Amino acid sequence: MKNVVALLIVAPGGLRRTEAEVLSAGRRLADGLGGTLTAVILGATEASWDGDAAAYGADRVVHVEHAGLAEYQAEMMVEAARRVCAALQAEVCLAPSSTYGLEMAPVLAQKLGAAVVTDVIGALGEAGQVKITKPVYGGKANSELIARKAPLVLVMRARSVAVLERKAGAAAETSKLEVQLDAGLAKSRIVERKQEASTGVRLEDARIIISGGRGMGGAEGFKVLDELAGMLGGTVGASRAACDQGWVPASWQIGQTGKKVAPELYLAVGISGASQHLVGISGAKHIVAVNKDEKAPIFETSEAGVVEDYRTMIPALIEAVKKHRAAQGK
Ligand SMILES: Cc1cc2nc3c(=O)[nH]c(=O)nc-3n(C[C@H](O)[C@H](O)[C@H](O)COP(=O)(O)OP(=O)(O)OC[C@H]3O[C@@H](n4cnc5c(N)ncnc54)[C@H](O)[C@@H]3O)c2cc1C
Repeated sequence: MKNVVALLIVAPGGLRRTEAEVLSAGRRLADGLGGTLTAVILGATEASWDGDAAAYGADRVVHVEHAGLAEYQAEMMVEAARRVCAALQAEVCLAPSSTYGLEMAPVLAQKLGAAVVTDVIGALGEAGQVKITKPVYGGKANSELIARKAPLVLVMRARSVAVLERKAGAAAETSKLEVQLDAGLAKSRIVERKQEASTGVRLEDARIIISGGRGMGGAEGFKVLDELAGMLGGTVGASRAACDQGWVPASWQIGQTGKKVAPELYLAVGISGASQHLVGISGAKHIVAVNKDEKAPIFETSEAGVVEDYRTMIPALIEAVKKHRAAQGK
């Protein structure tokens, strides 16, 4: 029996779309392999999450408990994950492409003697083999890989797999696994935790993203993007240039070394369209650009574009949305 494991670190409030995606991918893979799906919840945990994990396809839920896992600490988490994967004889471990997932996956793979593939947009079981799909060349093509060995650690790209319909009332076999971890394993400790002020939906979960680049000219420029995003129920992102300038937090960065996003609509404002930025938005359904340079490469990737200074275009767009809503009586 092939065991597929979904490694989850769940934030207070319960399972989010990211975790539901990993579970959904795991369910499909386990079905294709004729195996089982175990949701492994590392660290802080609540019994109510069992039902959520079951609703998205988990056959089993294992809560891994240890005082040292109460807060995320990479070495402790990886060691706990290694032990549970070994105990479950996991053939495939799936992790989300969150900051945690991306940090843990390669180290876990090394410890398990496993292969690791990141940025996975599809993992299916066919004829007993795991077939993995991963974008290459900045999202211009997809590569298909067949795993020749087990175990495997796969990091799933956010919003790349369809979430299974939630089966309310589904039940999974649940258990607690107490692990003995040496506190000396931790090579770092959390000195202070600062909650970043955030409004609205996370970039990874956003359906609409409005991103600004160096063309915004400063932090002030992002205020209009924020206003527009607020009106459309979207989230504001940025290019690396804007983050490096300190205009917006680094966590807003989208691209090769930032977040990979897959919204329905991506509006790129004052962003030239460097390949390292485009890698992060290859999963977007519709890309629209506003740039004052008609030769900006972003227009080659965009479905629609406006050659205009954002200072003219975005306020005009805000006014248009207001008028449209007023006409509809909203
Ligand atoms: C290893 C590596 C990793 C990287 N990772 C990332 C990454 O993850 N994400 C990322 O974004 N970049 C990344 N970069 C940087 C990347 O190469 C580009 O430098 C960066 O994306 C450029 O950001 P930008 O488009 O905002 O700025 P620019 O390239 O300077 O473009 C600014 C654009 O704004 C337009 N503009 C100017 N004023 C206005 C105005 N008033 N109204 C409308 N348009 C205007 C200009 O015409 C121009 O097209 C990486 C680079 C390297 C080497």
